[in-house]
Amino acid sequence: MKVGYVYHPIYLKHDTGQHVEIAKRLEAIMSHLEQTGLKQQLTPIKPRAASVEELLLVHHEQHISHIQDVAQRGGGWLDPDTVMSPDSYEAALYAAGGLIKATEAVMDGEVDSAFALVRPPGHHAVSRRAMGFCLFNNVAIAAKYAMAKYNLERLAIVDFDVHHGNGTQETFYDDPQVLYTSTHEYPFYPGTGDVDETGSGAAKGTTINIPLRAGCGDNEYLQVFEQIVAPAVRRFKPQLILVSAGYDPHWADELAMMQVSTTGFAQMVKIIKQIADELCSGRVVFTLEGGYNLTALATSVKATFDVLLGNTNIEDPLGQPQRRFEIGGIDQLIERIKKIHNLA
Ligand SMILES: [Zn+2]
Repeated sequence: MKVGYVYHPIYLKHDTGQHVEIAKRLEAIMSHLEQTGLKQQLTPIKPRAASVEELLLVHHEQHISHIQDVAQRGGGWLDPDTVMSPDSYEAALYAAGGLIKATEAVMDGEVDSAFALVRPPGHHAVSRRAMGFCLFNNVAIAAKYAMAKYNLERLAIVDFDVHHGNGTQETFYDDPQVLYTSTHEYPFYPGTGDVDETGSGAAKGTTINIPLRAGCGDNEYLQVFEQIVAPAVRRFKPQLILVSAGYDPHWADELAMMQVSTTGFAQMVKIIKQIADELCSGRVVFTLEGGYNLTALATSVKATFDVLLGNTNIEDPLGQPQRRFEIGGIDQLIERIKKIHNLA
């Protein structure tokens, strides 16, 4: 298995100051991959800056020039969560361009699968504005780019970040060629992602939201992946799968209230990889979204690479949550979503 990764020091220069979405996140990942010897098993993919033309596939030109202006003026806050430094515009261009390069490497057969280790993240950014630590919607841009360049008819985006990817949903809400599935804590930031948001017009049914109550752990996530995400993606038959990989559902992550372990992430990735192997010659590209506990993030990203490489030994130094609380009602939710989406 040839697995690629994207990384570039420019991603560290998006300086957010006192914030949870910090450069240390990527530093923790890269040093863990190095210390464990995993990095040597991976193929580096060199990122580039996305062009304005590529950003325009998703974003309004006023939003793009606004981000450029704020960077030129020295940075500043775009909303109560999202802040920029002078280098943030360039970092954001490289984040989108990095995922584009990772996608090309997979589509061109240079690697079997890939993971873009980028920041700023992207899945909250909407056409006309930045939101929730995200400046440009990396996954949406790469999806649009790949659809056009490789003339794809069907692409799936699987989003397991703990927050709903409102920007990604918005981008493809009326696009029947892109399936978007999201597991997220609900009710929670950004407020969207209820079960009845399913797409519009010809795209009805191609947005699948799985809003989960706080407290869900490996068991609940795996049930949802086995009973909703996997059958829905199989039915859609994508030619490429992109994954918004956010590791903030980890139990040690303090931004949210979920209880997924590193082992749980590995199991979800295994399901995604299996579907990709079955449906699209293993073509799957991951991109980093959230994940704010540095140890949980670094070990879970490594576990993701291990699964993609076919390594069977998954290291999970943090283990399972100590005070695991049971949540009820997941069966009911699964039945309800199956009914809405006609999943047997
Ligand atoms: Zn998140």
